Amino acid sequence: MKRGCTQCGECLRVCPVYAQFKREEYSPKAKRLLLEPLHEDYAAPGVNPSDLDWDHVKELARLCVGCDKCRTACARKLSTADLLADMRHAHPNWTQHFWSLWIKHMGPLWPSLGMMASLVPGWVAPSALKPSLDSAKAMVNEPVKKPWARLFKIPGIQVDSKPVVVFPGCTAKNIRPQWTSKTNNLLGLFGYTVLDTSDFGCCGGTMHSAGLYDTMDSMQQNNVDVWKKLGRPRIAVFCASCHHALSQYGQPLLSEADTVAWRESLTPLSVLLADAQWEITDAKPESYGYHQPCHWGTDHDLPLLESGLSGLRKGEGQCCGMGGITQITNPDLSRQLADSCLAGFPKNTEYILTSCSGCTIQLAAAAPEGTTVYHWLDVVE
Ligand code: SF4
Ligand code: SF4
Repeated sequence: MKRGCTQCGECLRVCPVYAQFKREEYSPKAKRLLLEPLHEDYAAPGVNPSDLDWDHVKELARLCVGCDKCRTACARKLSTADLLADMRHAHPNWTQHFWSLWIKHMGPLWPSLGMMASLVPGWVAPSALKPSLDSAKAMVNEPVKKPWARLFKIPGIQVDSKPVVVFPGCTAKNIRPQWTSKTNNLLGLFGYTVLDTSDFGCCGGTMHSAGLYDTMDSMQQNNVDVWKKLGRPRIAVFCASCHHALSQYGQPLLSEADTVAWRESLTPLSVLLADAQWEITDAKPESYGYHQPCHWGTDHDLPLLESGLSGLRKGEGQCCGMGGITQITNPDLSRQLADSCLAGFPKNTEYILTSCSGCTIQLAAAAPEGTTVYHWLDVVE
């Protein structure tokens, strides 16, 4: 039996859902108090003191955005997001399968759905559908016309000779292809040997949140096979959520030695560009901020961006509300968190940069009139 939650309350400091409502029953600590007795890893053998049924569990699962900050804060490294994923796995329902269909098969349709949504005037849609419509509109790709900055390698600095392959993830593959092409160009410009990236698929992170472990396993297997076939190169990642999901791969999918090699190979793109020289163009605006994605852990993007983009300020808000499968299980919560996150920027902020595919789309969907949200790759070349 695994040792579970001590009810120390440290996770309350970091949970965005608790921060939003200030209700202890919404906290990771409360969820674990209720759910651990139902879980085979934590409950004493043969004892089930909880009288929660699946409807109650479902309600608890809707109150988590899968940011995984509770794991980071917890001395025992307990992830309430993982606990809820196990619960969903044990109680599958239609929402998970719709989500799987959306991610696995409908990606190529996302741009057309975005275009169709952008033709619907705001006043036509019932208010209950507005968040979904906004999310669909945010999928429309409108690249910046002129970059704010160009990045160059400082002459004389040598880069690692190990080949690099870029992990694009679903969003870049389907609706923001310029993120992958720019990454390939930048890495080439910096002198890295860049391998073909096209065979990688979804990182599987969102399938884990949905409790669809078989689907997640096959996605992980595909990505590991690609990596091995390419000779175990470095994997450059420009999305915090993909990086977080990829860093969870391990045994039995990978041997012990390959688990170490895989995790060491995962490299945030900004680490590979750390010695960049910046040339700012006249397109750089005056007012802009940065949203720090929950899933980075250590965020290397902010220091890189601060080194070149003067005046960049981190927003004071928390999670954007995109994580897990919250968009489908609890769109109201997802939108409330996005609004709180955006409220953490000074009024009249024209642009918000971030470094996660999910945060980009989520904040773009919820941003007020006059604020545009980009992945930082959108504004550099
Ligand atoms: S994963 Fe995030 S939202 Fe969910 S319980 Fe943990 S801290 Fe709260
Ligand atoms: S930090 Fe960990 S041990 Fe403490 S209350 Fe939260 S989940 Fe439980």
